[in-house]
Amino acid sequence: MTAAPIFRFAPSPNGALHLGHAYSALFTARCARALGGRVLLRIEDIDFIRCQDSYVHQAIEDLAWLGFSWEGEPRRQSQHMATYRAALDRLAARGLLYPCFASRQEIRAAVEGRKDWPADPDGQPLYPGLHRHLSEADRAELRARGVPFSLRLDMERALAMAGGPLTFAEDGSGPLGETGVVQADPRIWGDVILGRKDIGVSYHIAVVVDDALQGVTHVTRGQDLFHATAVHRLLQVLLGLPEPRYCHHRLISDETGRKLSKSAGDRSLRSLREAGVTASEIRALLGFGDMA
Ligand code: GLU
Repeated sequence: MTAAPIFRFAPSPNGALHLGHAYSALFTARCARALGGRVLLRIEDIDFIRCQDSYVHQAIEDLAWLGFSWEGEPRRQSQHMATYRAALDRLAARGLLYPCFASRQEIRAAVEGRKDWPADPDGQPLYPGLHRHLSEADRAELRARGVPFSLRLDMERALAMAGGPLTFAEDGSGPLGETGVVQADPRIWGDVILGRKDIGVSYHIAVVVDDALQGVTHVTRGQDLFHATAVHRLLQVLLGLPEPRYCHHRLISDETGRKLSKSAGDRSLRSLREAGVTASEIRALLGFGDMA
């Protein structure tokens, strides 16, 4: 007997859940149902500056109200920071990470006036390599002075170490209709940050570590994260983690939200609920009228 597929819904509680979250959760539940899969809930709250406990509790309550169900206790990433740091240490031990002390302004200034300097998929200027080759002495000196730093992946080195071209199985589609076996090109991110200055780790490292630890076989999430998958595939190869299937879904446009929430002020599930909208109305509006 083969094990049941494992899906997860993984919101970041840095605000109230809205219709976009509801869509993603219900989409995940529907995919899992179709394949006889299990559904887990993961709270992605590594950003202790923006995530609040009250949002976590509210998210769990809102999801239950919506009719989304999951197995077991939700995994809270904030309780596993050491696990993500250990994964970073493994990459560092292979010479794949380096500290970058440059501020955003310094990076922007470095590329200013360089016509057609590329941006990463988040719209940030591609990192121009400012601190990639700092000497060990300079790094030690900056560290000793307490200058904050992020940890960046040396992309070329990482790609060389990973070997061959990277691909992933896409059951949904990317923003340009990418589907099927998709080429993953992490170079579009440049020397991506894997350890943030403020919190020490990053979404990319936490998500791949947890998907593996939780045995996730099917990642369902919004198209806004489609390009992040290239980094995730690279990290999975470097860390020897299994490769899940991916299914990126459309994003809920403001139109849908506005229609429903005209009287409700905003699109948070909580405010809709307080305005008298029922969970079954929300499910129907989002195209999940069949999900009880
Ligand atoms: N926590 C991410 C978000 O809320 C989703 C992560 C994922 O599904 O990979 O945007």
